[in-house]
Amino acid sequence: MVFKYCPVCGNKLIKKQAGDDGLIPFCKQCNCFRFNLFPVCVIALIVNTHNEVLLLKQSYISKEYSTFVAGYMQEGESAEAAINREIKEEVGLDISTLRYVTSLWFHLKQTLMLGFIAQTDKDNLVLSEEVDSAEWVPLETVTDKIYPKHPDNIAYVLYEEYLNKTDKME
Ligand SMILES: [Zn+2]
Repeated sequence: MVFKYCPVCGNKLIKKQAGDDGLIPFCKQCNCFRFNLFPVCVIALIVNTHNEVLLLKQSYISKEYSTFVAGYMQEGESAEAAINREIKEEVGLDISTLRYVTSLWFHLKQTLMLGFIAQTDKDNLVLSEEVDSAEWVPLETVTDKIYPKHPDNIAYVLYEEYLNKTDKME
């Protein structure tokens, strides 16, 4: 989102040099740069101690494909806090190990995705109303159920990262 007016005071913004970043929208009234904003989303491949992956069905996202736990970051929290919060909210799980893997720009939604691999030693799920159903599936069946491979599909990247066993956390 590129601001033309200040989101705080409503004044029309001018362009002002911001060091190496070049010309950036600036509010003279607030004396503040108004950098472009975009949503940041955290997502996690969650595995249990049986090496099964947690897949969700969420009809508001896709009726056909399963998804990983994901959600938007809130102002003031770290990415790690955000993914822990989303996992707790959506499926009621506590995570024992969490590792940041990679980021990816999701063009369709103009959103920055931050991808994690999370391990839990619990299987018991408590689903939020956002989640229609959830299941633990064997590692080798994950790609039958998630969105097909695509450069924008971070779920697939996380899956391949885990499959490559570079960070089996057991
Ligand atoms: Zn302002």
